[in-house]
Amino acid sequence: MRKFNFCAGPAALPEPVLRQAQEELLDWGGRGCSVMEVSHRSPEFTEVAETAEQDLRDLLQVPDNYKVLFLQGGATAQFSAVPWNLFGAGSQVADYIYTGQWAKKAIAEAQRYGRVNIVASSEDRNFTYAPGPDSWRQTGDAAYFHYTPNETIGGVEFDYVPEVSCPLVADMSSNILSQPVPVEKFGVIYAGAQKNIGPSGIAVVIVRDDLLDRAREDIPRSLSWNVAADAGSMDNTPATFAWYLSGLVFKWLKAQGGVGAMEALSARKSSMLYDFIDNSDFYSSPVEPGSRSRMNVPFVLADDRLDGAFLQQSEEAGLLNLKGHRSVGGMRASLYNAVPVEAVQALVDFMADFERRMG
Ligand code: PMP
Repeated sequence: MRKFNFCAGPAALPEPVLRQAQEELLDWGGRGCSVMEVSHRSPEFTEVAETAEQDLRDLLQVPDNYKVLFLQGGATAQFSAVPWNLFGAGSQVADYIYTGQWAKKAIAEAQRYGRVNIVASSEDRNFTYAPGPDSWRQTGDAAYFHYTPNETIGGVEFDYVPEVSCPLVADMSSNILSQPVPVEKFGVIYAGAQKNIGPSGIAVVIVRDDLLDRAREDIPRSLSWNVAADAGSMDNTPATFAWYLSGLVFKWLKAQGGVGAMEALSARKSSMLYDFIDNSDFYSSPVEPGSRSRMNVPFVLADDRLDGAFLQQSEEAGLLNLKGHRSVGGMRASLYNAVPVEAVQALVDFMADFERRMG
C-alpha cells in the first residue's frame, strides 16, 4: 500500500516507473538478467543511455551546442566541479547569489579555488526571499555567475532568470523539469537526480560546448566535464541503474505532457497548499509571497509544542516525511512532479482537521 510521500529527497518516484522497473528487474526485455547486470558499454545499455539523453534534451529543448552529462557525486561534486572547470582561463573571481543553505555550500567550495563575490544575499531576512536584480553588486569580469533557482531547505524559488554577461551557472537540483527553462541563457545547469529526475546516485550536467576548455590544468579527472563529454559520461563506470530509472522518468514525463504540463500542475498543487496556509491563523509560511517555492513548501504551526503531534498523526494518516529540515524546524511538504494532486488534497484535508481538533 503506497502512501503519499512529501520527502525533500530522495523523493517520491512515479508509481508507473517503479512498476515497470519491478517488472523488468529479474528479466529485462527477455535478456534473462537485469539492467544492473550488463556492461555499460554493451549495445543494450548504450541504447538506454542515449535514449535517456535524447528524452531529456527533448523535454528541456536543449540546444545542440550543449553537452548533457550523467555523472556521479551528486550536486555536491558539482559545487567543486564548477570552480575547477571554469577558473582555468582568465578571471579567478566568480559572482554568487547567497540565498540559503545550498548556495552557502556552493560558495564555500568555490572559495577554496578562487575569489567569490557575493552579488546579493537574503541573509538579512533569514533567507526568506530571492533578491531582485536591483540589489546586485556584480564583478565586472567574473568567470561565471552562480545561483540556486530553488533553495530546497528554505523553500525559496526565483521567479526570473538572471540576465548576466558572463556564463550563468545554476544549481537546479530541486526544480529542474518542473517548468520550461530557456537553456540558451545558461552556461551550465546541474542537478542532483533524487528529486525530479530519478533515484540518487546521478547528477545531470548541461554545459555549453565553449565552456569545456576553461578547466584548471590540475583538475581531478573525475570532475572534468571535458573528459566526461569526450567519453559520453562513461570515463568510468556510470550509475547504470540510476541512469536507466531516470530514463523511465523522462518517458513518463513526456507521456504526462512534458514540462509545460508540470508547470501547470506545480502551480495548481502549490497554490492549493499556500492558499490554505494563508487562510489559516494556525499555520503560516515564513517565505515572502513573491519568492515561494512551488517545489518545497515550509510551514510552521502557531504553537510549536504541537509539532510532534502533527508529525505523528500525519504519518498515521498516510502522509509521509513532513518534518522540516533540521536546520530550520517546522514542517516542509515537497511537491515534486511525482507527487499527485490527490496527495496535496489529502494533506490540506488533514491540516484542516488537525486545526479543528487541536486549534
Ligand atoms: N543543491 C540543492 C539545491 C539540493 O537540494 C541538494 C540536495 N538536497 C544538493 C544541492 C546536494 O545534492 P547531493 O546530495 O545530490 O549532492
